Amino acid sequence: MDFTPEELKTSIRSLIKLQEIDGILFKLNEELKLPPGELVGIKNKSEETQKAMRNAERMFRAVDRERRAIELRLITLQEDLKRAETKRREVKNTKEEFSANKEFENFQRKLADFKKMLEEKESAVEEKQALLTEKKAEFEALEAKLKSLEETRNKRLEDLKYQLDEHNSKRREYISHVQGDIFSMYERVQKLRRGSGVALVKDGTCTGCFVSVPPQLSTNLAKLDRLITCSSCSRILYPEVLLESQEVENTEAVSLKSSSA
Ligand SMILES: [Zn+2]
Repeated sequence: MDFTPEELKTSIRSLIKLQEIDGILFKLNEELKLPPGELVGIKNKSEETQKAMRNAERMFRAVDRERRAIELRLITLQEDLKRAETKRREVKNTKEEFSANKEFENFQRKLADFKKMLEEKESAVEEKQALLTEKKAEFEALEAKLKSLEETRNKRLEDLKYQLDEHNSKRREYISHVQGDIFSMYERVQKLRRGSGVALVKDGTCTGCFVSVPPQLSTNLAKLDRLITCSSCSRILYPEVLLESQEVENTEAVSLKSSSA
């Protein structure tokens, strides 16, 4: 690999920035892929509640149909009773009177039974209707919550896409400052080491894998005259002094900017 110490410095500094951006890009992409847990939870709950609501509606309709059938039966029974009463008034002898009375009492009993059944059915209908109303309200509240969460999510998605674009163009900018060979090396290690391709050496230790760097290598590293990789994790190594000089340069850049403003 052929490059000047200045090119090496610029390359590694750009890689440090690149690694930061890649970390951010990774998080942004994860967030883009996965809808927030709350949204998923509410969606599932809303689907469950919708099922329960439909179930409650079916039960309500079934009980209400039974109630209407009893009501119709009551109407015919009342007519039967009226006819039996007329018949009882028109009897010609004791035998007819006995059978007419029996028939009348029979309808009266039936009528009383059906009235009782109707009362029971009516309270069952009321119960099912209350359940249905409850489930409906629950479902509507969940749907409203879901809608607002989805709106928030959509806004966030727009924001995420914008941020991704921004960071991707910054990424391209930084890549343009890295020597080609160094960048391919960075990419290889980054794939291997899950997003981390450069590592700071602090107190003689690679901060990427926490393995000690041999003293001779540390000396070379401080000089920054050639590319040094970690013998254990293969990350491109850089000394603390690189960060310090960068801070100084940044501060100078800031003071230069503010003085020119
Ligand atoms: Zn290492």
